[in-house]
Order: sequence, then C-alpha cells, then structure tokens
Amino acid sequence: REAIRATALSKVYPNGTVALRDVSVGINPNDFCVIIGLSGAGKSTLLRCMNRLVRPTSGQIALFGEDVTCVNGSHLRQVRRRVGMIFQQFNLVRRLTVMDNVLVGRLRFNASPMKRGLSMLRLFSRQEKEFAFDCLQQVGIADLAYRRADALSGGQQQRVAIARALAQEPEVFLADEPIASLDPRSSETVMQILSKIHEEKGIPVLVNLHHIDFAQRYGKRILGMSKGELIFDGTARDLNPEA
Ligand code: ADP
Ligand code: ADP
Repeated sequence: REAIRATALSKVYPNGTVALRDVSVGINPNDFCVIIGLSGAGKSTLLRCMNRLVRPTSGQIALFGEDVTCVNGSHLRQVRRRVGMIFQQFNLVRRLTVMDNVLVGRLRFNASPMKRGLSMLRLFSRQEKEFAFDCLQQVGIADLAYRRADALSGGQQQRVAIARALAQEPEVFLADEPIASLDPRSSETVMQILSKIHEEKGIPVLVNLHHIDFAQRYGKRILGMSKGELIFDGTARDLNPEA
C-alpha cells in the first residue's frame, strides 16, 4: 500500500496564484524521494498539502490508504502527528531547551505551556523523557539536551527539529528545504541523518531540495516540478544519463 497518494491535486491560493496543477503521484513505503524544481515551482505547497497544512483546492490526498483531504479538528491533528515535518527555518521554540522542543513532538494535548515559554519537563513521565533523549541520541546531539534552542548553530537546530519529528513516531517524514539555510557541511550531516532514519526505521522520506547535486546523491527517486506540474519522475541516472 502507498504511504501517500496525491490524486489530481490542485491548489489556487486566495490571491489567485496557481501553485499546483493536477498533480498525481504515489509515494511508496520504501521511497527516499527528492523533489527538485526552481523556487515557486510548487514543491512546498505539495508537501504542505500532504500533511494538510494547506487544504487543496481540488483533488485528493490519501495517507496509507485513508482519505485525509477534508479532515479537520482532532482528526486533522491526528493526521499531522502521523507525518513528521521538517522546515527550512527549523520552527523551534527558541526560548525553550532542546529537550523541551523534542518533547513538543510527544504532546498529546493543548500546547499552551509551550507557547508561554514554560518548560514542559514536569508534564512528562521519566519514560517519555527517556524516549525524547533517545531521539536526540539518534541525531547525535544528546549532549546539547539542556541548552536553549536559540543558542545552537543552524545545523544543530535542524537536528533538534528532526529529533522532534522522530519523537512523534511518524509513519512518514516530509522535509521542506531542510538544508537551504545550512552550510555545506551541516547540509551533508542533515541529509545523512535523513537517509539513516529511512534505512534503519524503514520510514518513507520526501525531501524538497533546490540543490540538484544533493538530490542526485541522496534521492533514490527524484520528482521534478515546474510551474505547479510534475514534469519528471525517475532515478538520478534517468535525470543525467552521463553520470
Ligand atoms: P520558497 O522558499 O518556497 O521558494 P518563498 O521564499 O518565495 O518560497 O516564500 C516563503 C513562504 O512564503 C512560502 O512557503 C509561502 O508560504 C509564502 N508565500 C510565498 N509567496 C507568497 C505570496 N505570493 N503570498 C503569500 N505568501 C506567500
Ligand atoms: P516552491 O516550494 O517550489 O518554491 P511554493 O509551493 O512555495 O513553491 O510556491 C508555489 C507558488 O505559490 C509560488 O508562486 C508562490 O509565490 C505561491 N505561494 C506559496 N504560498 C503562497 C501563499 N500562502 N499565498 C499565495 N501564494 C503563495
């Protein structure tokens, strides 16, 4: 069964911008898939439709066979928990510690203490904290657990964001330009961590990148987008037969 299936997906933003035009694609459980395309091609909109941060204008999104195109309320929150999402700008709670940020991934209730910048340590059992710590170990930054998130480098912050997504125990990972703000060395580390998660946990991963070299080195499957349409679906070799 497919991890994600987009069927005839279109998105027109309220200002009239057509971001997606009739996109149909299936993501398999064993895919490590990179989406490439110029800025404005619709890559981010496609990922945001997949975890329903964006509601498509028409078409369907199915998650492991379940139609989630129109879900809302608590059902929508449940869908978001099943999808681990990583962003270009990390989206951490800057005033909180690394550990607190990872625990956000395990919240099963209203996040108001987090929004007020209060530590969440007392809200979680020892077992939950051990789970969060283990997620930090998997991305190699357990030693930074009690530092403030905004004291870390960009590469370290992105690793916290990956640990937070892992803490959700997601069924699929989506990463929206995860290395666009990072230096080359941190970019390599982040891509290696995503590959490792994919290999070791068998989680399908879908990554938006505009660096074609990273796409060719890490993508087992490459999707190309242009002007809201899917224009390529193949391997790195198909993309560049000379390579
Ligand atoms: P990207 O980094 O995906 O190429 P931009 O840097 O152009 O996109 O924009 C960053 C974010 O701002 C987008 O992901 C989108 O949510 C939002 N955005 C982009 N264009 C518009 C727009 N015309 N109106 C409102 N929001 C926009
Ligand atoms: P990419 O990720 O490939 O850069 P996006 O999905 O961010 O592409 O954007 C696709 C198109 O939709 C762009 O023209 C962008 O400006 C526009 N767009 C993105 N977000 C918004 C938004 N919230 N409101 C209006 N237009 C947007």
